[in-house]
Amino acid sequence: MPNRGCCPGVTMDPTLVRKKLEERKRELLVRAGEVHAGITRAEGPLEKDFAEQVVQMENDAVLAGLSESTAAEISQINRALKRIEEGVYGQCIVCGQPIDERRLEALPQSDRCIRCAEFASSR
Ligand SMILES: [Zn+2]
Repeated sequence: MPNRGCCPGVTMDPTLVRKKLEERKRELLVRAGEVHAGITRAEGPLEKDFAEQVVQMENDAVLAGLSESTAAEISQINRALKRIEEGVYGQCIVCGQPIDERRLEALPQSDRCIRCAEFASSR
């Protein structure tokens, strides 16, 4: 698999990263949609295009009903997608250093390098 990226310090293919992020987001939204449907006592089987609808549900009203961690992850993914567009994906938002690739592999929506993330969580 060729590993050439356009972003500084990142050799991962941004197209693949984007795909991975979008899949993850869809997964989260579908799960959130199921939770939401459960809360509103929706009946009957899910529509075939449910996954499509769910992608449209990305608004504050829906996000407000999600668990905090799901909402946080979705907004992280959105920010990561935006950074791919801007060509700054893979750079730490705190110190500007490239984020370790293994970290991005495990957590593609990371916006901080391991050092800054550890610093933030230790505060
Ligand atoms: Zn950093």
